[in-house]
Amino acid sequence: MAASGAGGSEGLCGSEWPGAGGLALLGLAPSAPSCPHGPALLFVKTSQGKEEGRRFYACSACRDRKDCNFFQWEDEKVSETRLAAREEYNRNHQPSFTHRQNVERYKNFVLLPLSKRRFCQECQQLLLPAEWEKHSDHQFLCDISAAQLKSPSQLLYPLENKKTNAQYLFADRSCQFLLDLILDLGFRRVLSVGTPRLHEMIQSKASQEDDFRVRSLLLDIDFRYSQFYTEDEFCHYNMFNHFFFGGEAARETCRKFLYQDNGERVIMVTDPPFGGLVEALASSFKKLMAIWKETEKGHNNQEMPMFWIFPYFFESRILEFFPSFSMMDYQVDYDNHALYKHGKTGRRQSPVRIFTNLTPSMIVLPAEEGYRFCAICQRYVSSGNQHCEICNSCTSKDGRRWKHCVLCKKCVKPSWFHCNNCNCCALQNHTCEKTDAGCFVCGKAGHKRSTCPSLSHARTACQADKKQRQKTLKRVKMGICKRSAMKHAIFSKKKVKNKKKKT
Ligand code: SAH
Ligand code: ZN
Ligand code: ZN
Ligand code: ZN
Ligand code: ZN
Repeated sequence: MAASGAGGSEGLCGSEWPGAGGLALLGLAPSAPSCPHGPALLFVKTSQGKEEGRRFYACSACRDRKDCNFFQWEDEKVSETRLAAREEYNRNHQPSFTHRQNVERYKNFVLLPLSKRRFCQECQQLLLPAEWEKHSDHQFLCDISAAQLKSPSQLLYPLENKKTNAQYLFADRSCQFLLDLILDLGFRRVLSVGTPRLHEMIQSKASQEDDFRVRSLLLDIDFRYSQFYTEDEFCHYNMFNHFFFGGEAARETCRKFLYQDNGERVIMVTDPPFGGLVEALASSFKKLMAIWKETEKGHNNQEMPMFWIFPYFFESRILEFFPSFSMMDYQVDYDNHALYKHGKTGRRQSPVRIFTNLTPSMIVLPAEEGYRFCAICQRYVSSGNQHCEICNSCTSKDGRRWKHCVLCKKCVKPSWFHCNNCNCCALQNHTCEKTDAGCFVCGKAGHKRSTCPSLSHARTACQADKKQRQKTLKRVKMGICKRSAMKHAIFSKKKVKNKKKKT
């Protein structure tokens, strides 16, 4: 902890960043210092839309300071001793086994008879017999079968750390739908970024069905997966700063994967944490796309095909960075999320959608689930999504039937009514924004702070993100399943051990 300057906390609100209290992301600076999660991101505190106070670096991956408390002022002079201490701290906070070692361990593990195959639930680790002793007071599973090894996402606890890394696994139906779609579109390779369950479905089929030709490379920050996949199948990767923990060799693995068949028939599928900073994600995805662009296929000015799975209320943010994308109506369902999955008693609406740069008409959505093709919009839409004659498009974002407001000149949610005070549509019981008092940021009348023209994109966006994040986090908090054992498992083993010692 010494290395990361815990004293500089005035810039942050509570234990949280950058959610609360106007912090804007400035991005990935070339000379950024590193925490155990790779180069830190540069932030600045904002007040009333203006940059205020000093800029600082904080961890790219962990939004909760309890998970990584890296903090450094941009202009701070860091002594040699502190730099050395930090480097040592970063080294010590890497996983206890390397990926290579984990691959070797796996090879030995599968040679064991079923009766000797144990998985420590506390350490989330496959155990070799020589290690049983060390884990004797831990809970473990035994008789780990080949089938279990093929579906690590079922064996591992979903990480549930709300701010840093909550893992929401696709419901089987949604995962199957994605894979079928990928197959129907003719893709042969999938760059799975933060989609371990899709990766697992592909790997599993590839090993079982001779004529299944699709391959997948998983990029994820959850290092537990390195126990189950070789270096050609999994790269330990941070999608907020485009950092490959495995260095040049891992980056080369990714590059090679994208370069196969001159870059033909490859698609990237990503399902990032929803609390994530959209601009940081977009910047990493652009870098992955740029690697592909070096291929022959990419040369004729094409974009690497992509599915970005994210809640619909981030639509404008995603389009800001990827204008060629459009949002599909398909509702992505999750297994371990009470709110985003099908209940027994009818369907809960999931807010999660697929954003893609492929032609919308190619994304065929299942008629069995009520989706239909709108010939005018040239895309598949939810059953409740009616084509509005005035807007001339199928305007619903959430699957319910929206209604057109002539005063707002657009379609709005069915629960909204036009408020003459606010001069826009809102929930009946909303508190009117005093528009006559002017915008909170610039003081001028006629708009709210969220649409203030005096703010740069990044800042307005950050505030919009903040609202969305808080909304999402609220839902997430309500819907999550409790698994107390696995709080900080991005780099699980070391921390679990350290904690053990203290208690
Ligand atoms: N629905 C997906 C899982 C999405 S959950 C599926 O079923 O396959 C988000 C995923 O992103 C998790 O696998 C998580 O480990 C990963 N993730 C979270 N933060 C990350 C980061 N900073 N870099 C890379 N991957 C990350
Ligand atoms: Zn960190
Ligand atoms: Zn153990
Ligand atoms: Zn309309
Ligand atoms: Zn209206």
